[in-house]
Amino acid sequence: MALEVSFGCSIRERGGVPLLQWDAWLRDGVPHAITTRHGGVSRAPYASLNLGDHVGDAPGAVMANRAKLRAALGDMRRPLAVARQVHGGRVEVVRDKPAPNTEPPEADALVTDRADIYLALFFADCVPVLFYNPKRRAVGVAHGGWRGLAAGVLANTVETMRAAYDVDPATLEAAIGPHIGVCCYEVSPDVAERFADVPRAIRTDEEGRSFLNLARVARMRLDQAGLLIENVSISAPCTSCFVDAYFSHRVENPTGRIAAAIGLEPLDGPGRDEDDDLDAEPEEEGAVAEPEDPAEPEDEEPRRVWNIDEGV
Ligand SMILES: [Zn+2]
Repeated sequence: MALEVSFGCSIRERGGVPLLQWDAWLRDGVPHAITTRHGGVSRAPYASLNLGDHVGDAPGAVMANRAKLRAALGDMRRPLAVARQVHGGRVEVVRDKPAPNTEPPEADALVTDRADIYLALFFADCVPVLFYNPKRRAVGVAHGGWRGLAAGVLANTVETMRAAYDVDPATLEAAIGPHIGVCCYEVSPDVAERFADVPRAIRTDEEGRSFLNLARVARMRLDQAGLLIENVSISAPCTSCFVDAYFSHRVENPTGRIAAAIGLEPLDGPGRDEDDDLDAEPEEEGAVAEPEDPAEPEDEEPRRVWNIDEGV
């Protein structure tokens, strides 16, 4: 089975680094990406593009991988603004260029209007959400596991962008990326109970186990925060099913982290470099992570790439 992504989104390779990117944002010149586990220098169990620096990987490898990410995003000189992620609801407004060797702020979302940095957060199963507002030139990224979603991290991000940059949520665009799907994400009944207000957020199997649909929760929270449904794009292959392409904390531990990163297009130049061939054909979908055996397992019922609009 190929690595499927949704319409309007594709995997492109930049400098040997495969990036999941949304076509509409590429057309606007917005540098952004969700990485896969490929294209880096880390060794197992972090092979190869591990971007998390708190998971036990060699610091030099992480630094090299982050440099590859910055280059793939288009400008090596722009530093990554990152956070110490704690599965909470706090949003950091990044006003200054991050200085080297400083502790990142404790937060699970970052927003900025600076065009000389990239924002980046790191993931292994949790939901990455990227934000872009063309009107006010502001971007954001949020980290949403069930705890962060329950803590209101998405609503807080939207509210922070409104307060800091006068962003009207109705003009705010968001992209939800790969995370552990409802096919695999079993949760305890008390966790399931926290999302009782979200229609069909929980799938219950014949053994009575509960599975949480994080994308449905994320989309509902964005809707409640005032985003228009047509401005929320979802490309969400399951990180647990597609562990050959992404890192999954549930499947492998220890493991690496993919990144969700975004920045503003530079004001003082073209949004796209002339030699930056955005119109090139996307990489073949299977090029990133073609499973050895494309046959579907016979005993498996969950969909590997699921559509949140279908019943669960
Ligand atoms: Zn799955």
